[in-house]
Amino acid sequence: MNETDMGADLEKVLIAKADIDAKLQELAAEIDRDYAGRDLLIVGVLKGAVMVMADLARALSSNVTMDWMAVSSYGAGTKSSGVVRILKDLDTDIAGRHVLIVEDIIDSGLTLSWLISNLGSRGPASLEVCTLLRKPEAAKVRIDVKYTGFDIPNEFVVGYGLDYSEKYRNLPFVGTLAPHVYGG
Ligand code: 5GP
Repeated sequence: MNETDMGADLEKVLIAKADIDAKLQELAAEIDRDYAGRDLLIVGVLKGAVMVMADLARALSSNVTMDWMAVSSYGAGTKSSGVVRILKDLDTDIAGRHVLIVEDIIDSGLTLSWLISNLGSRGPASLEVCTLLRKPEAAKVRIDVKYTGFDIPNEFVVGYGLDYSEKYRNLPFVGTLAPHVYGG
């Protein structure tokens, strides 16, 4: 599906694929610089961060290792439950490692705060965060996000890994859904 053939479910494109690509190149260059000479482990948060991880990892010129964690914070709807559960833990022992968490989006920041304290307690040499998208609410919580792609308005977005009831993850851009999709 492309931007001119969005289908009736989409309201608008918020961030075009070319802008995502360019931003990930920028972030990768920063990460390459910051971690020069160090072994970096990038940790993707499933399922939303799959696209960001894949494209960011390929934009990096340093040799990184990759691992995945799956946590649940949202149900099938659009509201954060505040409860985080580990559905899949890391395969890697991160003690003494330089770890970069890669996120798709930070909204309330609840998921990320929890993740930072969970991974932080495992004794990494360093722990930083990279997110493609950040909503205004995220600015209210005390999370130090070192690499941010785009600050977006407080709208529910889909695409580029982000879903609504498990759909729309494979859109190559970030967009919003038409009200009728939510039953409006
Ligand atoms: P937080 O805990 O920061 O409120 O939310 C984190 C998780 O909620 C994200 O990893 C994502 O799965 C989901 N989420 C938050 N905002 C959105 C959104 O606008 N669209 C979608 N599809 N998921 C979102």
